[in-house]
Amino acid sequence: MNIEVVTIGDELLLGFTIDTNGAHLARELSQYGVTVARRASVGDGADEIGAAVGEALDRTGAVITTGGLGPTSDDRTKPSIAALFGREMQLDESIVESLRQRWKSRGWPGDLPESNRQQALIPSGATILENRHGSAPGIWLEDERGRWVAMLPGVPREMRGMFADSLLPLIRARLPGEPMVVASRTIRTTGISESALSDRIRNLQDLDFEGLELAYLPGWEGVDLRLTARGVTAQDADARFVRVGDALKEVAGDHVYGEGAADLAASVLAALRAAGKKIAVGESCTGGMLGARLTAVAGSSDVVLGGVIAYHNDVKMGQLGVGKQTLAEHGAVSEETAREMASGARALLGSAVGVGITGIAGPGGGTPDKPVGTVCIAADIDGNVKSFRGSLVGDRHEVRQRSAQAALNLVRRMLAGTA
Ligand code: AMP
Ligand code: MG
Repeated sequence: MNIEVVTIGDELLLGFTIDTNGAHLARELSQYGVTVARRASVGDGADEIGAAVGEALDRTGAVITTGGLGPTSDDRTKPSIAALFGREMQLDESIVESLRQRWKSRGWPGDLPESNRQQALIPSGATILENRHGSAPGIWLEDERGRWVAMLPGVPREMRGMFADSLLPLIRARLPGEPMVVASRTIRTTGISESALSDRIRNLQDLDFEGLELAYLPGWEGVDLRLTARGVTAQDADARFVRVGDALKEVAGDHVYGEGAADLAASVLAALRAAGKKIAVGESCTGGMLGARLTAVAGSSDVVLGGVIAYHNDVKMGQLGVGKQTLAEHGAVSEETAREMASGARALLGSAVGVGITGIAGPGGGTPDKPVGTVCIAADIDGNVKSFRGSLVGDRHEVRQRSAQAALNLVRRMLAGTA
C-alpha cells in the first residue's frame, strides 16, 4: 500500500520546527510494508492545504496529515479537507461534552472557551480518532471510492499516540494477506572513514547482499551501515539481516561497536563494569564532553569517578601532574601531554582507567604542523598507556564531539584487547 503524508504548519516552512512527524510516520508504516510514496509540508493556509491534500488524493488515494487541528484561527485543516470531500462541518455534541469534561477534570476556571468548541466541528460522515493525549480529536474521512484522509494533530506526542492507538489499526485492516515489510538494520562503526569502509566492502567479491540495500551514513559518531529490506516478510528480512550483517561485521572488524541505536559510551561503561574497573577523565579541548557522554548514561555512577577539565596548562600541571618539561618540549597538544593527563587523572582519582584528551578544536589556534582538528588522545589502563594523534574534521563543535567519541573508542578497544 502507498500513502502520502502532508505535514501542515507555517513553522515547518519557516524552518523553526523540523518535520519529525513525517519521519515518524514513515518509519512506523514501513514496518507493515506500507510505503510513504511522498511527503510534503505546507503552510497553514486553507488553499495550500486543500491543494496539497487534493493532489495527494488524486495520485495515491490515501493521505495522512498532521497539524492544524487545534482550537485557534491558524488551524484550518478540517474545513479545507471537508471542502475537498464536499462535506459540511457539523458540531459533534459528544466531542463538546468530552472537551467539557476534560476542562472540568483539570480544575480549569469557567466553562469551555468558545475556541475549544471549534474542535468539536467535524466534517459530516467522518470517523473520530480519539485523542487520549490531548484535546484535538483526529479525523478519518473517506469517500464512496474508498479514498481516505486521516488527520492527526501536530504536537508530536499526541500524533504518535493517536497514530498507534487509532489510525494504525484502521490501516492494517486494509492490508492484504501476510504483511510484507520495509525493514532496516543498522551496524555502527567508528574510527574508520566512509571511503575506507566502502573499499573493504567492495573487495568482498562474493558478498551476496540478497537483495538488501546498503547505505553508508557518516556522522560524528562514525559511519553507520544501514541495510534495508523491502517487500519481504518480517521473518525473511531478519534472516537476511543476520547473514549479510554478519559478513559486514566481519569486514568492518574492530570498528564495529554495536547495532541499532547503540551508544559507544554505554558500551564502554558496560565493558568497564564487566571488568570491575572505574574510570576518570582529564579533558582539555573537550571541556567535559567525555564526562558528559559517560554520565548521560543512567547508572554510570558505579563506574565513573569524575574528572578534571584541564583547559589551562596550570591545571594540566597542577591537577594532573603534567610535567613543565613535557609541555615545553612537546607542547600542550601532543601525545606526551595526553599520556600524562591520562595517567594523572587516574592517579588523582584513584581509578583503574584514566583518559586524557588535548587538541585544537579551532577555528583559531592551528599551526602548520598542528592544524585545527589535531587531537591527541591517551588512555591508561592499570599502568598500560596507549595514545594516538588524530586529525579530525568538522567545525569546533564537531571536532570536540569526535574527540570524545575517539577517546571512548580507544578505551573500548583497549578493554577488548584489540588496541
Ligand atoms: P498544530 O497542531 O498545528 O497546532 O501544531 C502544534 C505544534 O506541534 C507546533 O507548534 C509544532 O511545535 C508541533 N508540530 C507541528 N507539526 C509538526 C511536525 N510535522 N513535526 C514536528 N512537530 C510538529
Ligand atoms: Mg499549527
